[in-house]
Amino acid sequence: MKRVLGNKIDEEQLITEVNRYLNDYHVGIDAAKRGIIRKYGGADSSSFVTASSVVKKIGELTGSEQNVDIVAKIVYVENKDITVKGLSKTIISGILGDETGTASFTIWEPGVTVLDKGSVYNFRNCYCKLWNEKVQINLGNRGRVEAAAGVTMDLPERSISMSSSECKIGSIKEGMGNVTVTGRIMSTEARNVMVRGEPKTVYSGIIADDTGKIQYSAWNDFSLKEGETLCIKNAYIRAWKGIPQLNMGDRCEVSRVDSVFEVVNADSSRKTVDEITRIGGGLDICVEGLIVDMKAGSGLIKRCPHCNRSILNGVCTAHGQVEGTPDLRLKVVIDDGTGALGAIINRADTEALTGVTMKAAEGLAMAQGEGVVAREMASKVLMKRVRVTGNVMSDNFGPSMIVKGASRVEVDVESEAAKLLDEVEASI
Ligand SMILES: [Zn+2]
Repeated sequence: MKRVLGNKIDEEQLITEVNRYLNDYHVGIDAAKRGIIRKYGGADSSSFVTASSVVKKIGELTGSEQNVDIVAKIVYVENKDITVKGLSKTIISGILGDETGTASFTIWEPGVTVLDKGSVYNFRNCYCKLWNEKVQINLGNRGRVEAAAGVTMDLPERSISMSSSECKIGSIKEGMGNVTVTGRIMSTEARNVMVRGEPKTVYSGIIADDTGKIQYSAWNDFSLKEGETLCIKNAYIRAWKGIPQLNMGDRCEVSRVDSVFEVVNADSSRKTVDEITRIGGGLDICVEGLIVDMKAGSGLIKRCPHCNRSILNGVCTAHGQVEGTPDLRLKVVIDDGTGALGAIINRADTEALTGVTMKAAEGLAMAQGEGVVAREMASKVLMKRVRVTGNVMSDNFGPSMIVKGASRVEVDVESEAAKLLDEVEASI
């Protein structure tokens, strides 16, 4: 990192940052590296490379290329709106193919680039990654796309007609293509949106099976109705706001299934943090673990009356000086032994977990200062076991949950100790 960042950061600062990423944000060393380099270098990890690029066929890619040129045909392409650090931007993603295979691609800084399905382009200075054992082609700041005029390319049939695989909703991961799920429609919604200046209707809702729930979205009206059980073929999975979503594209087929179907309740979507890290996130997930840390921004906070953002020293980042309305919140880290999850807990659950009501918090703040509220709450929840349920999303800092429900899990120390003793005795 020192070599890459040069004089943009001194050693002491760098050590402080590494400590913060590893011990406060609880991210892995690779994510820490990427995050710090992005923060101080202003470029993505592709700036690691300065060597000239090599030319490869898709079938030759290993997923570790840092600077590679690829000539390929657009099999599928779409624009996607994503949010990065609170700002929305548009990226281009899809599938590229050549004579040797296909791979998904993403153009992170597309500018005015427009790609036509079926046309052949030169993709220069790409970098590749492996995701779910599949190669992904990325174009970052340095990437360029040029039309390969006059070049035609025949793709082998097998590489584009991939077979769809049956999959349980609870094990759906970001980036999967061609999935088939069977589940019950829990809710439906139709919204009118503008896409490149044209009005379109997007159909969305929640579908569930016995292992989990997922948000679906479709551009075609499949006349989905709440309560019916469906088999959805050839859907693909993309994360939206950090949560995997089932997308029903043009190739999607829907059939009604005549069977009684058990769907999840909140408890059976119970997951470990390790499982969540592998799938990326999801809806109504339940996690049980110890509260190992409480972060700044917990306790008695003030919110902007216009936008509900939490504000600092009476200033909203969007609305300037405002008269804040008080609220209670906990920002904690929950560790279940398999990993750590950030969690934001709302006022009602904060009151229930800490036993500190809004009224008590305001009294405490008045008498002894606002910092005392957070300290009082920390003393009530740190190293306590809790069960939390909510939607989980992932970003560079790992998974985090917006908690909808939280409860204390009382541990009977005596019986736990007896159980442990039994296990130990049985094993010797
Ligand atoms: Zn505001």
